[in-house]
Amino acid sequence: MAIDKILIANRGEIALRILRACSAMGIRTVAAHSTIDRNLKHVGMADETVCIGPAQSTQSYLNIPRIIAAMELTEAQAVHPGYGFLAENADFAERVEQSGFIFIGPRAETIRIMGDKVSAIRAMREAGVPCVPGSDGPLPDDPGRCRAIADGIGYPVLIKAAAGGGGKGMRVVHEPVKLIESIQLTRQEAKSAFGDSTVYMEKFLTDPRHIEIQVLSDTHGNAIHLGERDCSMQRRHQKVIEEAPAPGLTAAQREHIGRICTDACRRISYRGAGTFEFLYENDEFYFIEMNTRIQVEHPVTERITGVDLIAEQINIAAGEPLSYRQEDIRINGHAIECRINAEDPQTFMPSPGRIETMHTPGGPGIRVDSHIYDGYTVPPNYDSMIGKLIAYGKDRDTALARMRVALDEMVIQGIKTNVPLQQRLIRDTGFAVGGQNIHYLEKLLAGDQ
Ligand code: ADP
Repeated sequence: MAIDKILIANRGEIALRILRACSAMGIRTVAAHSTIDRNLKHVGMADETVCIGPAQSTQSYLNIPRIIAAMELTEAQAVHPGYGFLAENADFAERVEQSGFIFIGPRAETIRIMGDKVSAIRAMREAGVPCVPGSDGPLPDDPGRCRAIADGIGYPVLIKAAAGGGGKGMRVVHEPVKLIESIQLTRQEAKSAFGDSTVYMEKFLTDPRHIEIQVLSDTHGNAIHLGERDCSMQRRHQKVIEEAPAPGLTAAQREHIGRICTDACRRISYRGAGTFEFLYENDEFYFIEMNTRIQVEHPVTERITGVDLIAEQINIAAGEPLSYRQEDIRINGHAIECRINAEDPQTFMPSPGRIETMHTPGGPGIRVDSHIYDGYTVPPNYDSMIGKLIAYGKDRDTALARMRVALDEMVIQGIKTNVPLQQRLIRDTGFAVGGQNIHYLEKLLAGDQ
């Protein structure tokens, strides 16, 4: 079934990215936006717009009945949730389908399984995906049994909330005397942050890299992988720079882990685009979670494979078979993405406000995904990411050099941004070597390196 009208249930750069894909495919668009977002770039470009509520996202971008009402009103056939907001909300996916619309994403059941980390790990282990050694299920209440589980795994261990996300609800335990107290604290945090006190335990890997595999899986039993992304440059578990391919990973390793992921997709009848996130240490992959949506960092994969991931998401949702077979996917060159945030580059405090002047970089291999423009006011209500700068080159050094020039060319005046931090990182000799672990950036910021 062809889709001819899509409602975009998101904002900012990803809403614009979805709109661009729809326009190129000849699909009409509806921008569902909050009152404060009337001036967003994609709202001005969409075929139709619907205001779904006030600035507070709980009353607009997270308001399921209003989004479904907007679909009814505009007779959109499908909804693209982007990332964040309702993208991984199984109830939303279910309500969309129950109302007779298409959810551009996996089945509600899959989202539900992957949204709970304990059930996700169980499903993945059963599907043959290597996981971090751990409690293999929720931790019991009995302290003695918890101690035995930790002893069996070996310290340090990590206590994680089953419902956790965004790097929240995790606690490292280095010694047995701290174990029970840490479990209790994590349970309390999980209860107040996610309404679910279920926690589980994993081996704490000391110096891993974060490497993730992008997959596409259709409703005809086809699944392909598009290689990996290295997202080890993180601050407080938030990604700052992403790149593809991962420095040093061999084609054989890519093929091996990619095949494990596509086999798992077929096994769970996965539908749509998805990402298997792994920690990578001593040449081993350990699954940590699956993201059942498009990710912020998808452009680096698009750049080195030539695949339009949003277009593929839409085709899969329309019931089409994948446009590519695994053997059609070739990894060419290297791509790096720097996230641009409206924040103080020293304190990381958000810096909303009016953009007085803006000049975007360009030239060979440069892609800018951003919704901001001269005179646009960044509202204080949402995530501080205001864009992404992607540099491509035939090899990593070329991509790095182009990124350096692009960052220097970027002008955003009126608000503070993290461009100075990105300029520093891209010139950092340790980053230039490649293959740093997930602690590198924080150590660098702490002045240890
Ligand atoms: P979230 O859903 O909050 O992003 P993840 O399970 O993806 O949670 O973990 C976020 C980050 O926490 C990872 O990218 C990694 O930096 C760190 N992390 C998670 N599990 C472990 C582990 N077992 N050992 C070491 N670090 C971990």
